[in-house]
Amino acid sequence: TPVMIIITVIGVIAIVALVTVAVLQNRPLLQKYKYGIVLDAGSSHTALYIYEWPAEKDNNTGRVEQTHSCKVKGPGISSYASAPLEAGESLRACMQEAEKLVPGKRHHETPLYLGATAGMRLLNIENSSASDKVFQAVGDALQKFPFSYQGARILSGQEEGAFGWVTVNYLDDRLKQGLETTGALDLGGASTQISFVSNNYDGSESPRNSVTFRLYGNDYNLYTHSFLCYGKDQALKMTLAQMAKEGPATVFDPCFHPGYTATKNYSILYDGPCVSDRKPQAALATFTHTGKGNFLQCQEAVKSVFNFTYCKYSRCSFNGVFQPLLQGPFGAFSAYYFVMNFLNLTDTSIPLETVKDSLKRYCATPWNQIMLLHPDVKLKYLAEYCFSGTYILTLLTEGYNFTSKSYSDIKFIKKIKSSDAGWTLGYMLNLTNMIPAENPDSPPLPHV
Ligand code: AMP
Repeated sequence: TPVMIIITVIGVIAIVALVTVAVLQNRPLLQKYKYGIVLDAGSSHTALYIYEWPAEKDNNTGRVEQTHSCKVKGPGISSYASAPLEAGESLRACMQEAEKLVPGKRHHETPLYLGATAGMRLLNIENSSASDKVFQAVGDALQKFPFSYQGARILSGQEEGAFGWVTVNYLDDRLKQGLETTGALDLGGASTQISFVSNNYDGSESPRNSVTFRLYGNDYNLYTHSFLCYGKDQALKMTLAQMAKEGPATVFDPCFHPGYTATKNYSILYDGPCVSDRKPQAALATFTHTGKGNFLQCQEAVKSVFNFTYCKYSRCSFNGVFQPLLQGPFGAFSAYYFVMNFLNLTDTSIPLETVKDSLKRYCATPWNQIMLLHPDVKLKYLAEYCFSGTYILTLLTEGYNFTSKSYSDIKFIKKIKSSDAGWTLGYMLNLTNMIPAENPDSPPLPHV
C-alpha cells in the first residue's frame, strides 16, 4: 500500500542518513561514547577540558581524546580571595558550553573534576580560610550542573608533575608498548614541574621525589619535583624583588626592553609568600620600572633567585633539591611552549648558542619597535617575553643542567594529537581507573 511504501522510503532515508553521519565522523555505527570533564584551575586562568572515549573501550588503551577546551574569562580562582562567589560565577559560561557539547543522555554519568595548582597552593599558605571559601564557592557553582561532580581540590606538586608525565606518555602510546618514556617539563605561572624516568635511579635517595606506577604491565619509577614560586610569573616577581631590594626610586631592569618604563607599587611587588621575605625596609610607595634590554645581565639577575650553594645528595638541580641524571627525550609544555613559540624558538635543533644570540637581539630591541611589530599581542605578555625566554633558558641549563648537547632532547609542545599537554588528562585517567596495571592484550599467565 502507499502508506507502507512511504514508511519504507522514510526508513531507508533514515538509515542512509545515519550511515552518512557515521562515515563522515569516521566512527563505527551507533558507537557509544563516554565523557569526562576536568577543570584546570591554574594561577593565571582556568581552563575546562572535555574528554571522550568509546564506551566499550573503557579499560583499553590510548583511546581517550580531548574534544573541546574552554578558557574561562578572567583571572585564576586564587585571585578571587576577596570575592569567592565570583570565582564560582566565572566558571558558568564554560560549564554551559560543556552542557551543550556532552549529549544530554550522558550528563549524569559524566565525571566532573576541578583540580587547582600552585596559585591555590600559595593562597592556602597565605590565607587558608580564604582558599577554603574559594573552594566552597566553586563547588557550589559546579554542583548546579547535571554532571557527576567529583569534587574540587588542590593537587600536590608531585601529582601535578606525575600526571603531566602520564598524559604525555599516554598520548604518545608509549606506556602500552613499554617504550622508552618521555620526560615532562611543565611551566605554570606559580610553579614548575620536572618529571622523568632515569634508569639508574631507584627512588631511595630522595623518596619524596619518587612516584612508582605499574601501567599496562610495566613498572615505572618516576622522578618528579615541583618548584613552588618558580613558575614564570612568580619568578619574575622574585627577580624584580631582588633587583629592588634596596628600595630605589628607579629599578633598571635588564630583562625589559630599552625604552620600557612603568610606575609600579612596592606593595604589589612584595605581596605573596614567594617574595614577602625579601621586603626592603622603609620602602617608597612606588618605583619606576625601566628597561635596559640586556640578556646577559638578565640571565645573571635570574640566576640570583636560584640557590646552588648546598646539596646533601649525590647531585642536585637547585635549592638543595635532588635530581638524578637527566635521561631521554623531554616534552616542554604550557608556558614553555607559549613563550618559545612567540619567540620563534621552538626548534631545538638550533644550537643553544644561536638561540641565546637570538634572544640577546630580541631583548635589546627597543620597546616601541616591539610594540609596532606585534600590535595584536597583549601588552602584559609582550613586555615580559624577554624575561620569560631568559628565565626558561636559565631554568633549563643552570637549574636542571641541560647542556648544549641535551638541549636538543627537548621538544616544545602544545598538543599531542588533539589533546593539550598538561596534568588534566593523566588526572582523569587515574581517577577513572582507565589505565590498567596489567596489559589487557597480553594473555594471562598459563595455569600450571
Ligand atoms: P597557570 O595559569 O599557572 O597554568 O600558568 C600559565 C602561564 O602561562 C602563566 O604564566 C601565563 O602568564 C602564561 N601564558 C598563558 N598564555 C600565554 C601567552 N600567550 N604568552 C605568554 N605566556 C602565556
